[in-house]
Amino acid sequence: MGHGSATSLKGLAYTLSLFVDHGITAWTSVEKRSFLNAGRAAERWLVEQALRYGVELQFHNGGNYGLQSPLHLRTLPPVEADGMMEPSELLGRALRTVGWDDPAQLHDAILRQSGARTLHTVIYVNEPGRSFAGPCGSSRASKRFLESCVVFKRSSVGRAEEPSTIAHEILHLYGAWDMYASAKFSPTQLALAKRRFPNDIMVDSHGGLMMADVGPLTAWRVGWAAKEAWFDTLRPKGQ
Ligand SMILES: [Zn+2]
Repeated sequence: MGHGSATSLKGLAYTLSLFVDHGITAWTSVEKRSFLNAGRAAERWLVEQALRYGVELQFHNGGNYGLQSPLHLRTLPPVEADGMMEPSELLGRALRTVGWDDPAQLHDAILRQSGARTLHTVIYVNEPGRSFAGPCGSSRASKRFLESCVVFKRSSVGRAEEPSTIAHEILHLYGAWDMYASAKFSPTQLALAKRRFPNDIMVDSHGGLMMADVGPLTAWRVGWAAKEAWFDTLRPKGQ
């Protein structure tokens, strides 16, 4: 059925947005609208970027939970050593709260009704944290039915998240690699990535969408372009 097998970002894509409340301060409707708009801006940008590679991408109007009435979780899944949370665990809890015990059933129902080719979820959480995606090909993949990324209300440095962060996380769901300094990406790789793809959103997502693009390597990862042999040089450790 293609669960968790979103291998390319093309055709009709469907975003399921979930606004999760946690703690005492709930999302305000203004905040939720503003994040939804940021998500839309990210989608429009992705459509434009796909077009640069001659690839047709459209986004369905999508759906949401937690927008009209609050989706409150008493507890969030534990934060792991890498600063992340298990996205499928968070998604599972949120979906159970709105009456879906089986995420796979929801996945199939949405694709059937919308005619979309691919579906992913963006979970907005009203607390500080580092936004992340459940990257493809990790050991977590087998547990995941709906590809999901988590966007926190404010980044850990207290800044509101930008559409560019959402676009970056969505690209991860379709296989894009991070290309910034980390334990998985060496200084040599970073220097090469910066030289070859100075504006790539996976190299730096903090400059905003106006300045960013999807470079040829990221385009290959998400199914928009062919692979060049040297791209493997930039493969992050463990990917
Ligand atoms: Zn990333």
